[in-house]
Amino acid sequence: MTSRTLPGQPHIHYKDGQLCVEDCTLEALASEHGTPLFVYSKASMLAALAAYQRGFTGRNAQICYAMKANSSLGVLQVFAQAGCGFDIVSAGELARVLAAGGDAGKVIFSGVGKTRREMREALLAGIGCFNVESEAEIDVLNEVAVSLQLRAPISIRVNPNVDPKTHPYISTGLKGSKFGVAHDRTLATYQHAAALPGLHVVGIDCHIGSQITLESPYLDAVDRMLDLVESIEAAGIPIHHIDFGGGLGINYNGDTPPQADALWTKMLAKLDARGFGQRKLMIEPGRSLVGNAGVCVTEVLFMKPGEQKNFCIVDAAMNDLPRPAMYQAFHDIVPLEQKKRAQPDSASLVCDVVGPVCESGDWIGHDRPLAVAAGDRLAVLSAGAYCMSMSSNYNSRPRAAEVLVDGKQAHLIRERDSLADQMRGERLL
Ligand SMILES: *Cc1c(COP(=O)(O)O)cnc(C)c1O
Repeated sequence: MTSRTLPGQPHIHYKDGQLCVEDCTLEALASEHGTPLFVYSKASMLAALAAYQRGFTGRNAQICYAMKANSSLGVLQVFAQAGCGFDIVSAGELARVLAAGGDAGKVIFSGVGKTRREMREALLAGIGCFNVESEAEIDVLNEVAVSLQLRAPISIRVNPNVDPKTHPYISTGLKGSKFGVAHDRTLATYQHAAALPGLHVVGIDCHIGSQITLESPYLDAVDRMLDLVESIEAAGIPIHHIDFGGGLGINYNGDTPPQADALWTKMLAKLDARGFGQRKLMIEPGRSLVGNAGVCVTEVLFMKPGEQKNFCIVDAAMNDLPRPAMYQAFHDIVPLEQKKRAQPDSASLVCDVVGPVCESGDWIGHDRPLAVAAGDRLAVLSAGAYCMSMSSNYNSRPRAAEVLVDGKQAHLIRERDSLADQMRGERLL
């Protein structure tokens, strides 16, 4: 018996030549449920969470899973049962948290464009905190809360102006970003909010970007945040919690982001040094809790060798895996059968792995050496975050099914869309 794990994904490994998620072989799951199929490891999610929990041992900290990374109910249930709160960005996400058994009191509501209706629903549900992003939003939230005779707990998202050195589309903490309140407007914004009858200032937050693989932007953000907390508190406005957002990267292509526990040991040392180590801390990790826990299994439909390029046409596409088209993102792609991994001496073909969608942007991987044929199955790795949650029905393709593996057990947590699902709510003239 041989077992080989893939880098950065300890619960996804070859066993007796077959790619497995925990104790389930992906071939068996794909045969049972069809492809494309997302498969997630529960142990991998809990291990990622445990790294943060270890980092916060003995501290007053709350981990709010940023659920836009993967908002499937079965995934939310795992985190709710593990005691997580949730970072939401819409009323739809709030409804999902409640449906999955999450605690409204541990929900924080982020986003630059909350509607009045969403504010009302979140207030009535009793969420823990609104992370507000502009003076205009502060005034509207105050009005909505006053009309319900409630007080909205708020934190103001500040823009610490640090460069996370990641893709520009997922870099959010620089001047010129639509997110957060500018560093030099922060105190005035707090003073404005603290004077309003419908609001209760409870915290401060930031979120500097996503897929961050360096520790320095986080450490810089600590100093900038604490400078602000000191000036706000000096003006007589107590800050009960400090929220450092999410953004920690994962391994897509040999990336080596800091480990959550090691990063937090350093962050906490800085907080301790400035006397803030016992303050309530919040974080909003998304990708780093789920990204490496999932794969997308897809079947090779056709090999199409060409003069300039060879194509491997698979049954998953940009509607299932939007990150390559959106961010030129890299996902590793491996065959389910270990012996079909391309070896330097084997008859492999360098191909672009593409889907059936009618767009040249519909690619999953460029220039990959593959030794597969039609009918073989591949796993697209690191597909647990920002894949299913960003998927669509483009080209009238059904959204894929999802399985959550727990040891030997495989739970179908989402059925593949039926044709009726796809046409639900539509009417002829
Ligand atoms: C998206 C987002 C997160 C999570 O980001 P990850 O990179 O997935 O960890 C956290 N907080 C806010 C406000 C976000 O918008």
